[in-house]
Amino acid sequence: MPGRSKYSKKKSENLKRKSESQKRKKARSSAKKKGGSKKRLLKEEKHYEYSELESPDEKKKIIDKILEIYPDERLDLKFSSPFELLVSAIFAAQAKDEVVNSATEKLFQKYKSPEDFANLKPEDLKDYVSKINFWYKKSQTVINVSKEIIEKYQGKVPDSVDELVKIKGIGRKTANMVVGGAYGKPAIIVDTHLMRVSQRLGLVDEGLSPEEIEFKLKEIVPEEVQTKFSFALIRHGKKVCHAKNPDCQICELKKLCRWYKASFKYT
Ligand code: SF4
Repeated sequence: MPGRSKYSKKKSENLKRKSESQKRKKARSSAKKKGGSKKRLLKEEKHYEYSELESPDEKKKIIDKILEIYPDERLDLKFSSPFELLVSAIFAAQAKDEVVNSATEKLFQKYKSPEDFANLKPEDLKDYVSKINFWYKKSQTVINVSKEIIEKYQGKVPDSVDELVKIKGIGRKTANMVVGGAYGKPAIIVDTHLMRVSQRLGLVDEGLSPEEIEFKLKEIVPEEVQTKFSFALIRHGKKVCHAKNPDCQICELKKLCRWYKASFKYT
């Protein structure tokens, strides 16, 4: 019944508003307890303006705009096969892509396939990857992953996230990176940049886990552009929407950005 659905929508909007206002009230009282100044109260309130946008149209505009700004982005990691991307992604955890690329350039000249890595010891990789943080542990992971790919997948890297995450040492971010970046299939790659930018823009609520963000974005981003969208958002996080000092003044998304609008309201 149309009347009824309108009523439920209104009811859910009221509930959401009520919950946001409760969050703000809680933040204010916690700031007061900490002896907060007016500036601190506003800062605490602003923190809670960081929640998901309610309007699907606004979210769609953001998705369209980010794809317009960054129409043809790629991963910064260099690779020539799904397996090479998998190895690079393992080494790239909490490391700079440039450092990983410089190490893997020589590494992949010598070792290219799971068979090449499976019988090595981490020490055998030291000369190539010692500049990458946690190189020993990451090398061991690469070796173990190679063995599992040979034993369970006949040496071929699986092309689905569900299969990839069954391999010990592969998380959802790496799995999505391989599926989207190497196989060109739909993927939402939730790295630190995508997490931060999607929350600031208001595409998702703040405080969600990477997995929750992945599934939430899968609901709102059309499947055929999910991988492009991931690359675009990651690029925006690296170039403009920095963790510490986002370049809001030059940002082409500012008119649509919930974080920017909330900040502007209080300045
Ligand atoms: S306006 Fe600022 S916070 Fe919003 S996306 Fe742009 S840089 Fe990030």
